[in-house]
Formats: sequence, structure tokens, C-alpha cells
Amino acid sequence: MIGRDAPGVVYLVGAGPWQPDLLTVRGQTLLGRAEVVVHDYLANPAILEWAHADAELICVGRPPSRLKQNEINALLVERGLAGQRVVRLKGGDPFVFGRGSEEAEALRAAGIAFEVVPGVTAAVAAAAFAGIPVTDRRFGSTLALCTGHQRADADSDLDWPALARMDTLVFYMGARRLGTIATQLMAAGKSPDTPVAVVRWATRADQTTQVTRLDACATLCIRPPATIIVGPVVELRDRIAWFESRVLHGLRIVITRSQATQAGLNAQLAELGAEIIQLPTIAIAGLGETAPVQTAISNLAQYDWILFTSANSVRHFLGAVRAAGLDPRAFANARLGCIGPATARCLDAHGLRADLVPNEYVAEAFLDALLAQGAAGQRFLLPRARVAREVLPNRLREAGAQIDVVATYETHAPDADPVVRARIAAGDVDLVTFTSSSTVRHFRALFDADEWALICAQTAAACIGPITAETAQEAGLRVALTAETYTIPGLVDALSAWRRTKEA
Ligand code: SAH
Repeated sequence: MIGRDAPGVVYLVGAGPWQPDLLTVRGQTLLGRAEVVVHDYLANPAILEWAHADAELICVGRPPSRLKQNEINALLVERGLAGQRVVRLKGGDPFVFGRGSEEAEALRAAGIAFEVVPGVTAAVAAAAFAGIPVTDRRFGSTLALCTGHQRADADSDLDWPALARMDTLVFYMGARRLGTIATQLMAAGKSPDTPVAVVRWATRADQTTQVTRLDACATLCIRPPATIIVGPVVELRDRIAWFESRVLHGLRIVITRSQATQAGLNAQLAELGAEIIQLPTIAIAGLGETAPVQTAISNLAQYDWILFTSANSVRHFLGAVRAAGLDPRAFANARLGCIGPATARCLDAHGLRADLVPNEYVAEAFLDALLAQGAAGQRFLLPRARVAREVLPNRLREAGAQIDVVATYETHAPDADPVVRARIAAGDVDLVTFTSSSTVRHFRALFDADEWALICAQTAAACIGPITAETAQEAGLRVALTAETYTIPGLVDALSAWRRTKEA
């Protein structure tokens, strides 16, 4: 942050079409330094997360706070004169149908320094994400960017005969005037069979592209924002479409696992084209060095086996071991068992190798594998969540083992984001992923009976394994799929396979 006596500066930053990381590096850097960010609705709010935590965020482009252009100009001038460092974030590129030039003129007139940071403009983004090159030398060499929405005081319309001679035409703000645009182009000599693509919400997970011909446009009803591409290049989409062909494209998936552990799953599903809706239903808190944990740590050398049933149990128990002034050598006598590969990887990250991982990643299979090694007379330590299934300790005891269960962390249900909750209650999602039975139970608890009935009717569950699936079913959910391998990659694979069979 800069001092009050420094002169103000305004950065006119193009935010790109929607996908946040299409913002330029320069734009991101400036956003992180801005004291004030003035933004409108075509810029993705997720981009604002790159703004400084103390920055003042002003939305000028959404009712009821929609400001007129001269009011926006005045706001930028006022903040500039006050010595503030301002980012004016605009959808796409500030100078392509963005009125950035009017803002720049106002700033210049007031003597305020400004900088323009270009952005990926809708024409280029929509075309790229629809698999349509705006130019291709096999199809010609001219490209025109046009607005479908004329200024009210414009005394002449577009030069249609000139446009009709262009190889590729891209129309901004033309969704509601598509019929007129097509009619004018055909009247000016453009062939009625010229291909047309209409790309709506380009780069968003719910992007759609409709392909048609000029003479079929009159009947199309398109809601903004959409970008219209006219020309033979549209045909290449058949061969090089990629974004909408990704296996999970357009699927709205709720992620219920804890905020701390979601990132991997979210990234994998987003990469495959899904829209991720985050609703963490679990939060994890370490219990610290309780007396039972301390006793277990001081007796570590006496255990034959230490069993870990989740990465969290590894993290929290090893944290406690470190806090007690010990390191992995304290585990020298014991063999280490992990319920699945993610738990084993977590152990590995602490420099310890699992001696046993079952073939199937549930407590029952873990138990069978341990019994096969001979559990009778053996001493087991099970550091785990405060509330968990009792199968493992009970059955090991029945088999003649001695087992100490110590709680190292606990889970609770965090507050749900009301906007996300309402969206799910309205049935506006396709699938909800569950990675444990407690995610199911906590999710269920967020909704009343009517909402739950609607959710059960409209959405389905995607479960990491059979136990979780059973809990989901008991709660009344339709289980669309259960992972065959009970891991996050297993769940991602099952989702892809499920989508493929649905599409087939
Ligand atoms: N300065 C912006 C354009 C603003 S005009 C830019 O450079 O992209 C607004 C028009 O841009 C919309 O009516 C639509 O035609 C287009 N547009 C913006 N974002 C879009 C998106 N995500 N998908 C499709 N069209 C978009």
C-alpha cells in the first residue's frame, strides 16, 4: 500500500473472458497491489481473490449498483485525485468494446496517471474455447470484430456490404440481434449457407456452442453474453473442438470434503471440465497433546503395529510425536499399516514407509490383511479421529490382539455458505461427491425435509466406496456411482466412466 501523499494511478486491466487464470500476470500483480478495485459483471468474481485483503472492492456493473459510464469515470477520477492506487477491472480487453478509452480520456483530462493492461478479448477466447480459429489461411485472411449493438445515436448502421466481404466476422453484443445480423449479411451478398457459431459464456464450465447457418439464424433465441462467429472457419470446430468435449464438461459437481483436503479433487475434476461447487461439510481440528496421546508416544517402542486409517491420523499423530521432541526413529520397532495409498503417501512424506496396505481400501480389508499376518498377542496402536467406526479395534480384540485407540483429531460440521446451500437446495446441481459417511451425514443435516426430497429427486451421489454409498442410500440419495478403487483418483475415474456411459 502506498502513502496518501503519493499521486494516484489507475490501471485499466482486462480481466479476460471469465476463466480467472486467463488474466495476465501483469493484471494479477497490479490487482495484488491495488487499494481500490472497480469491477463489473463480465469479470469473474473469483479474480477478486487476487486482490489485496485490505482492498476496497466496488462493483459498478450489476443492478442495483449499476453506474453510468460518466459516473464510473467520475469515480475513477475521484479515487485517482485522492492518491489511491486503483485497478479498474474490465471483462475481456478494456479497449475492445469496453469503453476503456472513455475512462482513459477522463483520467488524462484530470491529470491522473493511468496504464492499460490488455486482456484476452471475448472474440479470441470464445473462438479458441469453441475450437474455431478466428483466422486460418486456408479460409481467407480477413477478420472483423463488430458490435451487434449500435449506439442509440449512431446515424448510420454497419457497412454490411463491406462486412459481407470479410472471411471471418465476430459479433459482440449480438445475441438478441442474431436474426437481424444474419438477414443483413445475406442481403449484402453473404452466402446463406455460411456457417455460424454462437458461443455463450465462453471459458465457463457451462459454456455452450451452437453451430448453424446464416439462413437458420432467425429462429435462434440466444441469451447474452454470447459471441457470434460467422465464416467458413467455423467448420474446423468439427475437427478441433476440445473444451466442450472434455469428459465432465458442464457437469455441476458438489464437493463436500473438508476445505483442507479438497484442492486435489477439485483440480482433477475441473481439469476434466466439471463445474466445482464447494460445500465443505467437514472441518478437522487436531486435539493436541492429550494425556492418552502422550502415553501412547512414550510407549511407542512397545507396539508391534501402528495403524493409520486416514492421512489426517498420520498428520496429527506425527505432529504430536514431533511436538514431543521425537522423530521417525521412534517408530523403529513397530510395523506400520495404512488403510490406503493416500494414507501411505502421507506417511512417506514424513520419511516412513508403510509395511502393509490392503488391496481394498476399507476397514474390513485392512482387518483381513492384518489377521493374515497373525494378530493374536500383538500390540496395536490406532491413532485416529475421536469418532470413527469400531470394526477395526473390535475385531482385532476378538482375534486376541491388544489395541490402544487414541483420538488425535476430531471432525465437525463447519458453517455452510448460504448461497451455495440455497443453490443445492434448489436442485441446481448434478452430482454430490461423498468421500466418507460423515460427509453424507453432515450434508444431510444442512437441509430440511422438503429440500431434502427435492435434492434426492434432482441430484445423485458419487461415492468413494461401498460404506459411504450405503450411508448415502440410507439417507435416501440415489447413488449414481461408487468408485471401484476407494481413493480420490478412483472416484475421478468412476465419474468419467459414468459420464461416458451416460453419453453413449
Ligand atoms: N471488453 C470485452 C467486451 C465487452 S462487450 C471484451 O474484450 O471481451 C460484452 C460482449 O462481449 C458480450 O455481449 C459478448 O458478446 C462478449 N462476451 C464477453 N464475455 C463473454 C463470454 N464469456 N462469452 C461469450 N461472449 C462474451
